[in-house]
Amino acid sequence: MSQFSLSVCHLYGNLLNTYGDNGNMLMLQYCAKKMGVQFDSEIVSIYEPFDPKKYDIVFFGGGQDYEQMIVSKDILTKKSELTEYIEQEGVMLAICGGYQMLGHYYIGANGEKIPGIGALDHYTLSQDNHRFIGDIVIYNETFDEKYYGFENHNGRTFTGNDEKPLGKIIQGNGNNGEDGYEGVIYKNTFCSYFHGPILARNQNLAIRLLTIALKQKYGDAFTPPNSL
Ligand code: GLN
Repeated sequence: MSQFSLSVCHLYGNLLNTYGDNGNMLMLQYCAKKMGVQFDSEIVSIYEPFDPKKYDIVFFGGGQDYEQMIVSKDILTKKSELTEYIEQEGVMLAICGGYQMLGHYYIGANGEKIPGIGALDHYTLSQDNHRFIGDIVIYNETFDEKYYGFENHNGRTFTGNDEKPLGKIIQGNGNNGEDGYEGVIYKNTFCSYFHGPILARNQNLAIRLLTIALKQKYGDAFTPPNSL
């Protein structure tokens, strides 16, 4: 048995899986194995409690409007636990619909304003009869890394306090098609519109998330791999 292990929550994993977002879980598991780390995961879905102390990584995928609406009602019951997890620097990856629901609100398919949990300071508007669809490439200056993905969203997200972008757009539309940025990073929560899935196309990001989580849990006892 490995010296290191990670407990991973796939939040609403049975409802939100647009464009193979589940592949992010497979990629985390694959990279953890290569790093010699035991990986245990479970889905936490509607009507189930989220225990912020139980997990080292949370993955929250995107979804179609119908599923997103179901989740947006349930997630309000988990608001304080999820906020606690994020504030205590737990590692989280949220994609598209998941990204939107961590913010203050988003506008649904019929123009209705749907509250999110407001754990992060962004909000999401809609656009009429148009979606941002296509390949996208961004550059993260802090990490000096490029990320590649595919976006497909109606929402236009505007970021707020303490939110750094996941990257500057090289190609594509990103958060809102206006400000030139894609995604956000707040503490150890990473949000993005990238499907693809993002981690399968960007192994460096998968390793980064695993490394942050292992450092949080084991401190200096864990040394990140030089190469994989
Ligand atoms: N319904 C949302 C939008 O289009 C989220 C879509 C998704 O998660 N792929 O903005």
